[in-house]
Amino acid sequence: MTSHTIILGAGPAGLGAAFQLARRNLGRVTVIEQHTEVGGNAGSFPLEGLRVDYGSHRLHPTCEPRILQDLQQLLGDALLLRPRHGRIRLRNRWIRFPLRPLDLALRLPPSFLAGVAWDIMRKPFAGRSPGPETFASVLERGLGHTICRDFYFPYARKIWGAAPDMLSPVQARRRVSGNSPAKILRKIAHAIPGLGPLRAGQFYYPRLGYGQISDCLAQAVRNAGGEIILGARVTGVSKAGQAWQVRYTRSGESVIAEGSQIWSTIPASVLVNCLSPSPPAHVLSAAGRLAFRAMVLIYLVVEQSQFSEFDAHYFPEETLPLTRLSEPKNYSGASQPKDVTVLCGELPCERDSHFWNATADQLGEAMLGWLASVDLPVRARVRQTTVRRLPQAYPMYTRGCEEHFDTMDRWLAEVDGLLTFGRQGLFAHDNLHHALRMGYCAVDCLGPEGTFDAARWAGFRESFESHVVED
Ligand SMILES: Cc1cc2nc3c(=O)[nH]c(=O)nc-3n(C[C@H](O)[C@H](O)[C@H](O)COP(=O)(O)OP(=O)(O)OC[C@H]3O[C@@H](n4cnc5c(N)ncnc54)[C@H](O)[C@@H]3O)c2cc1C
Repeated sequence: MTSHTIILGAGPAGLGAAFQLARRNLGRVTVIEQHTEVGGNAGSFPLEGLRVDYGSHRLHPTCEPRILQDLQQLLGDALLLRPRHGRIRLRNRWIRFPLRPLDLALRLPPSFLAGVAWDIMRKPFAGRSPGPETFASVLERGLGHTICRDFYFPYARKIWGAAPDMLSPVQARRRVSGNSPAKILRKIAHAIPGLGPLRAGQFYYPRLGYGQISDCLAQAVRNAGGEIILGARVTGVSKAGQAWQVRYTRSGESVIAEGSQIWSTIPASVLVNCLSPSPPAHVLSAAGRLAFRAMVLIYLVVEQSQFSEFDAHYFPEETLPLTRLSEPKNYSGASQPKDVTVLCGELPCERDSHFWNATADQLGEAMLGWLASVDLPVRARVRQTTVRRLPQAYPMYTRGCEEHFDTMDRWLAEVDGLLTFGRQGLFAHDNLHHALRMGYCAVDCLGPEGTFDAARWAGFRESFESHVVED
């Protein structure tokens, strides 16, 4: 049988792999995606003449150079380099984000600065807290009490809906890039011209919304002969002899696709439940204990050309349940449409919770109240409220989740011809450029005869552990 790779999921990870396979002519490629658009969580959709994203999304300049080069080639001058221009609300004051030395000195409450200074002085004498390591203990030891109490802990409770000491230490190491005073100082120093890396304080953003990255990749896959099947939800995966069969539902019909290998970027816990014969009970049980935090995105279409000059507002405080507000127009600097702008509020929650099930009108009303409570009143008329729901926004790194993931991952690794990667496939709280890198690395492991170099993949898997999420 000639090589035919079936890729499950058309988010950045799946599309990155499909693009590499197709352009390098490494056999037939078919991507199967449940939604009618590509891009997954990193996609965009049209709203009142704008294209808006699923929450605040930027392409970080730390993207691996070969991938950035490809994106620059695919997107051409549609890939803009933009200055970051955000604000964090801390103790009722606005602090510029990325952090800037002068702004911090002028705006941080003196009691906060004194607390941080005291924490830093005490640091050499602070012992390790008793008990197992957690998100809370790692951050508290690294950053001290004040920053944790006022920023990271309330933010964590909102994002993950769990107490910081119930979260895994991995979350602190991978999710918090500034997890020590030295790292924070380095980040602050990056704001001083000449002291930061190239492109510090900047980000790449496509003119037509973040989803344009995935749209261009999908077009390139098709141009190179690959196939992308949209509106097709994978419900079964099985092996018949040497061939893999994927069952999917499309327009109410059940269809079977046949390939020589499966590369899955859908949540690994969903994949194991699609497999037949079924994995052993302990694998299914481990998969069942891996949870994702969901997110409701509330979009207000407001009748004014610009709401604020900022691209994003971050809300660590627990007085409002939103974690972030973004104004999509400010990401690309678009001046059109002239008479409206969109505000997008990010509301992490559980699936089937009160927020998840609320109507657009209820959520819109609530968002107006929350914004007013942090001195961001919306005074112009709200033309409409639209809501999108992400069932798998963030992998939940609760304590002990590594063990459950490892149990499932070890079993999956033994299944010949089946590979999982991507943010959902590896339960990794990663950025788009990390997910793309996983797809590229998977293709790097293919030999000329279609053989897969498992040892090389193991090396790449180790390198994925060093990914640190950027906001
Ligand atoms: C609020 C928010 C803000 C973010 N901000 C940034 C940012 O600023 N910069 C950045 O780089 N990254 C950001 N990210 C992360 C970025 O969105 C992800 O890294 C990226 O989407 C991961 O790509 P992926 O392909 O691994 O997974 P996904 O994008 O989740 O794609 C998985 C795909 O699988 C499909 N799928 C699932 N189940 C099935 C099934 N049964 N059948 C068929 N298809 C299925 C899904 O529909 C989806 O299209 C953010 C994420 C969130 C939630």
